[in-house]
Amino acid sequence: MMNVPLTVGSLLERAERFFPKKQVISRTHSRIHRLTYKEVGERTRRLMSALKTLGIRKGERAGTLAWNHHRHLEVYFAAPGIGAVLHTINMRLSPEHIIYIINHAEDKVLFIDEDIVPLIERIADKLPTVKAYVIMTDQPEMPETTLQPVYSYEQLLKAGNPDEQFITDIGENEPAGMCYTSATTGNPKGVIYSHRGIVLHSYALGLADTAALSESDVAMAVVPMFHVNAWGVPFAAAWFGTTQVMPGPQFTPKLLAEFIEQEKVTITAGVPTIWLGLMRELEEASYDISSLRAVLCGGSAAPRGMIQTFEQKFNVPFLHAYGMTETSPLATVSRLKSYQSNLSEEEKLDQRAKQGLLVPGLEMKIVGAHGEVAWDGKEMGELLIRGPWIANEYYKDERTNEAFKDGWLYTGDVATVDEEGVIKLVDRTKDLIKSGGEWISSVDLENALMAHEAVFEASVVAVPDAEWQERPVACVVLKDHFKGQVEKEELLQFLAPQFAKWWLPDDVVFIEEIPKTSVGKFLKRALREQLKGHYAEKN
Ligand code: ADP
Repeated sequence: MMNVPLTVGSLLERAERFFPKKQVISRTHSRIHRLTYKEVGERTRRLMSALKTLGIRKGERAGTLAWNHHRHLEVYFAAPGIGAVLHTINMRLSPEHIIYIINHAEDKVLFIDEDIVPLIERIADKLPTVKAYVIMTDQPEMPETTLQPVYSYEQLLKAGNPDEQFITDIGENEPAGMCYTSATTGNPKGVIYSHRGIVLHSYALGLADTAALSESDVAMAVVPMFHVNAWGVPFAAAWFGTTQVMPGPQFTPKLLAEFIEQEKVTITAGVPTIWLGLMRELEEASYDISSLRAVLCGGSAAPRGMIQTFEQKFNVPFLHAYGMTETSPLATVSRLKSYQSNLSEEEKLDQRAKQGLLVPGLEMKIVGAHGEVAWDGKEMGELLIRGPWIANEYYKDERTNEAFKDGWLYTGDVATVDEEGVIKLVDRTKDLIKSGGEWISSVDLENALMAHEAVFEASVVAVPDAEWQERPVACVVLKDHFKGQVEKEELLQFLAPQFAKWWLPDDVVFIEEIPKTSVGKFLKRALREQLKGHYAEKN
């Protein structure tokens, strides 16, 4: 067979060639843009030549601090298109971490959305490697800024060459992208994505038994483009000629619902907190969301109750998937097997709330204290994964030695696997509650709580306990119209039939909001701190 290198540029080239009329619908700060792939292609080529003019060379990193919109999409292809590396930066991290990330990656140029400019101005004197700032704005005039040297994105494009060619003399294993993942303690860890990894991961998103992304879809990645490349959707969607809807900065659940209705979105992707927000919106106002064929949900466990509401009340199929920054991210997808159609509705839901089956192309094992666990859905162990779109190291980081061993990625996630090979995540190792020598899954308790009609969000964390080492405490946000109406006892009674007695939380604390991480996951570290204060006050 021919040994043809798999490159990121070829993905957009296909969109230009075969789907020039298909659209990218992009919301920016001031308006909604509709561009064809032909236009996106030409603009990307202009940007590639501009990057070269700015002196960006093969292998060097181009950082982005931007929301989901067409300009960000163009950088996605332009940086790897000249052999440089697209480095998406999570601008919601602390300034210290942003400084660390930019310096560690040695970014040469930063693409910045206009609302992020003040943040970068405050730290610019600590970014010695950056030799150009490019501001992405719709306005003809650039915002006033102290950044130097600074360029207007649109001006650079104007001066660029529309016929610039995508790089071909590049090995498929060369870096094309880069993303930092937050660590529990210490600095974020960098993951490099190769051209080959991105292309193969794009294939994976198109498989009928995964997300089945295709030309006929209208895909809206709500997951930020700085969170594992918006789960690879922008790359795969361009390749397949899929219409893309990019929701831009500071969107609301209302805006997402309107986009789904107006643009007839067929597949959308995001973390559970996004869908909890959308669910509330759909309960309050009426929208036609019948175009949706799938809500791809991952990043943290999709609560069973939420899957049920979306499917039964709104008639929208849910696709629960699992992955991490280190896995590009798609690793498992939860779908029923054809012969499981005879399961009861409850059993089907139980099965689909699990993280699912490994995507073709990857390998896994789950290793407990005594070696690989039995496929019985009970024995727990750490999930290990390997495959062509799984990272093999952290970029210039000693913590590589902890997570990558013997050719496997140690995910730090504790899971079980059942007779069907379906994995169920029990918890992150660090969030498991260790009570009297046994483990309690905070995820299971949270899911059960969120199935209660009064509960909007719930997070269960460990609190230190003199006798048992740790005990679970539930932090619960009630839906507005249930506030003050539901007592701790009622929720504990609701849980009691579903769990062993020693699993039940020692306390239920009602709070106004659950602190979230920069990518919208429950921030358990902050919650544990908050609880310390809560109990200190009580005593
Ligand atoms: P961060 O560590 O900043 O959250 P990632 O997005 O890479 O960054 O997080 C990956 C982790 O998210 C996984 O290791 C796992 O713990 C969790 N996760 C991802 N998808 C799911 C899922 N479907 N169910 C439960 N946990 C999930």
